[in-house]
Amino acid sequence: MHCPALPQPGRIRACTGPGGVSPLPRLEPETILINAHQMVTLRGPNRPRVGADATHLGTVPKGAIAIKDGRILHVGSTEEMLRRCAGSDPAIIDCTGRLVLPGFVDPHTHVAFAGSREDELQRKLEGASYLQILKEGGGILRTTRATRNSTAEAIAAQTRRRLDAMLATGTTTVEVKSGYGLTTRDEIKSLEVIAQLQKEHPLRLVPTFLGAHAVPQEYTDRPDDYVTLVVDEMIPQVAAARLATHCDVFCEEGVFSVAQSERVLQAGKDAGLRPRAHIDELVNLGGAEMAARLGAVTVEHLVCTTDSQVELLARAGTIGCLLPGTPYMLMDGRYPQARRMVQRNLPLAIATDCNPNCWIESMQFIIGLSCMMLRLTPEEAITAATINGAYAVGLGEEVGSLDVGKRADILLLDVPTYQHLPYHQGSNAAVLVLKDGKVVVDRRDELHESGAEP
Ligand SMILES: [Zn+2]
Repeated sequence: MHCPALPQPGRIRACTGPGGVSPLPRLEPETILINAHQMVTLRGPNRPRVGADATHLGTVPKGAIAIKDGRILHVGSTEEMLRRCAGSDPAIIDCTGRLVLPGFVDPHTHVAFAGSREDELQRKLEGASYLQILKEGGGILRTTRATRNSTAEAIAAQTRRRLDAMLATGTTTVEVKSGYGLTTRDEIKSLEVIAQLQKEHPLRLVPTFLGAHAVPQEYTDRPDDYVTLVVDEMIPQVAAARLATHCDVFCEEGVFSVAQSERVLQAGKDAGLRPRAHIDELVNLGGAEMAARLGAVTVEHLVCTTDSQVELLARAGTIGCLLPGTPYMLMDGRYPQARRMVQRNLPLAIATDCNPNCWIESMQFIIGLSCMMLRLTPEEAITAATINGAYAVGLGEEVGSLDVGKRADILLLDVPTYQHLPYHQGSNAAVLVLKDGKVVVDRRDELHESGAEP
């Protein structure tokens, strides 16, 4: 007796195979995805993946997945799934010829901002540096003016469009930082926008307080006073209102020193906000030692971090969050030494860093850049974009892999295998996006059937 490749709508008929009655308990899911050409589960140890673990994607050919109450009920082969769902009546999503992945986790963005800075790209093409543009009142300072001058509704409307683009390209969890307010009122306004968007948007948002993103112009001559404002006023208010889970800082030459950064992160930690830090993007100030001392969850950028600092971070249990879109948009040709980090067992996540200087929403593009410019393998890049991203935002037990009990955040991609993700670039491969088991993006009608062998 043969199981049907794709059951007709209606109850799945009993189909027990040559052995007679199936010994496995019956499943009664609400939805099943079946016939995936390849399913990448990322099943593995419950920790950020390093070394060989970061190359094991747990692929299942002809894979199937069952969903109930927004969570993953079962993962296995299509044949087994149909056998175990016999007699039940789930909604069926046929994935013939296509790839199934966990939803992407984008663990580092500044997506809540107002305005744009397209003219600064022109300046950069003419040779101006990032710090030069910042010194002239451009860059972060310009976006800060635009964000301060915008209402919460206007910031939300602009941010919503970017979240839509992220979801449409397969991101289901995204970290979002404040950091373009730089006054207590405007930082809180940005975090409230993030909280409001969390209520209405399907994407899971992880809010981070980044009051120490830049020294605002009114504090240029007294940056320590600004740090005091962040520590004494902003952090207590943000923590009391539960507007963020993490606290971040931009530790960089001309921005915040190591000592100032440590004051901010220690105050955040004391208030219950988990520390993370932008370090070594342009100049190595010793931020790695500071981050290791504080037990930072992640460190971001790591463009000029030394090998011994990478080893220190690995020993501290910190995740390296690499942002290849930033040097790409800066065009300075300096990328993090990702292969040396892999060799030193630093777990890696990758992120868009979506911000007005690096306006990239697609994790598919970042996976491509990570292979081309950081020389991660496709396996390492996909691990970094899913399960390690989940650990980077403190949700490793909830999302980032297709495991029983986890949230049913699932992507269907219009490619047959994961190797196509970095190889076939520049278009959106996402066909279907499920968040908590619900279809939130559906492009099946727009796309032709895959011609690949099932
Ligand atoms: Zn950043």
